[in-house]
Amino acid sequence: ETIGGFFDRTVETHRDREALVVRQQNVRWTWGELGRRVDDLAAGLITLGLERGDRVGIWAPNRYEWTLAQFATAKAGLVLVNVNPAYRRAELEYAMNKVECKALILAPALKTSNYLEIASDLVKAGKLPHLRHVVRLGAEKTPGMLNFDDVANAGGNAEKMKLAELGPKLQFDDAINIQFTSGTTGHPKGATLSHHNILNNGYFVGEGLKLTPDDRLCIPVPLYHCFGMVMGNLGCLTHGSTMVYPAEAFDPLATLQAVSEERCTALYGVPTMFIAQLDHPEFAKFDLKSLRTGIMAGSPCPIEVMKKVQSQMNMSEVTIAYGMTETSPVSTQCATDDPVERRVSTVGQVLPHIEIKIVDTEGKAVPRGETGEFCTRGYSVMKGYWNDADKTAEAIDEAGWMHTGDLATMDEQGYVNIVGRLKDMVIRGGENVYPREIEEFLYRHPKIQDVQVIGVPDPRYGEEICAWIKLHQGSTATAEEIREFCKGEIAHYKIPRYIEFVLEFPMTITGKIQKFVMREETIRKLG
Ligand code: ATP
Ligand code: MG
Repeated sequence: ETIGGFFDRTVETHRDREALVVRQQNVRWTWGELGRRVDDLAAGLITLGLERGDRVGIWAPNRYEWTLAQFATAKAGLVLVNVNPAYRRAELEYAMNKVECKALILAPALKTSNYLEIASDLVKAGKLPHLRHVVRLGAEKTPGMLNFDDVANAGGNAEKMKLAELGPKLQFDDAINIQFTSGTTGHPKGATLSHHNILNNGYFVGEGLKLTPDDRLCIPVPLYHCFGMVMGNLGCLTHGSTMVYPAEAFDPLATLQAVSEERCTALYGVPTMFIAQLDHPEFAKFDLKSLRTGIMAGSPCPIEVMKKVQSQMNMSEVTIAYGMTETSPVSTQCATDDPVERRVSTVGQVLPHIEIKIVDTEGKAVPRGETGEFCTRGYSVMKGYWNDADKTAEAIDEAGWMHTGDLATMDEQGYVNIVGRLKDMVIRGGENVYPREIEEFLYRHPKIQDVQVIGVPDPRYGEEICAWIKLHQGSTATAEEIREFCKGEIAHYKIPRYIEFVLEFPMTITGKIQKFVMREETIRKLG
């Protein structure tokens, strides 16, 4: 099945139920209304002369136009290219040319960056040779650009006929989306995904949460990333649930407001987002009783935070999921009826129709309980990195296994634990140290709000342990006091030699902490 086909069925079945709520744009649409607008935009894209397989970029924060573009491109057989809202000039140029985008839909501006100016300058300078159309959001006009609404209104009967003929010809294995990874460990990579890849994944993720048409899912995570567009939008589409966007970009207060005012039943986020909500000075004011379930994912989910989300946010059925852009994204997930202890402390079991294995450096499966690299195979593995056979071959082996670069263990019942990234593992004096373990321990300190552990080069031990600590508002602490807390509780070689108190961590727009930047900064500081 294709995404367009599934979309039409959902529109048909749930015509009068609420599909989409976009708080900051005052939008409340039923599936019927969303369906009409998606068809209009799909027809409008055809008037631009775009053809099956052409790439269309979208460079915008969370807004209704994003969702229209997602479903309209799928119906028109186009490949949507998710452009990171944090990109600037050089990155946009690189991404557009790498995938040879013929059209780019863009928001006027976001925070510090003027998208219109960047795109205009690049076009004028002849730096985007493949780009034929720039479509801007909003009512104002910009020379050389089309307006989104005009494009959406341009399609007539001829285009609608063309769409109707095209629909049955589209194949579930067609590339439909190029998603860039978060850029947590370096340059983002463009993963090419098919209808089959992401539609199925969205469906099974929603199944894990037992989503129904009565569920209202709050999506504060970016749509440009798989967490928003697949686990969020496609999770809702495949279950007839309502998508609720609290704000253009993550904001803890707006999220809490959206949950309580929209009576959301489910909430997504990376750990840093849940931490920011729990720690918000106005947290206690909000009525979160409507919440039932949700997913924490994207980076290691501290047990202490999971427990708080369960008890203080009323998310008794909260689960953790694990995955990556390259695998559509989810590979393992807890089910809402798994025992609480498992749900807060593991990333769950393998999703249906996917295989997983945990291997040693020679590629042999390790015994249960032992640490190795997590590999996965099945419908969820991407088609490849766009136009990059070498990188694809490095990631996916001949037998079809995706090598994730993540370290994991699996217990007798098949529950998986993510130990950390291969790249983040610290080797201190010959001992393998997993930052995650030290982070989990330090989270128990009552003054610590968030903590991240890295390895920094050391002439004597090869690497030394360094912890960056963010204290709760109003707290103060000394490095000595933190080390005292560790003594006798964790092995001496795991006790951080360096401790930095910080107010912020370097972060991707998906809310993930960039440890490579922390390492660079720490090394510079230590001289
Ligand atoms: P890049 O590949 O560009 O460096 P990234 O790996 O963060 O960035 P994503 O595809 O967004 O890009 O994230 C996938 C990664 O996130 C996984 O490989 C894993 O390291 C981490 N991750 C996802 N879910 C979890 C989880 N539940 N627990 C621990 N880590 C997780
Ligand atoms: Mg990655």
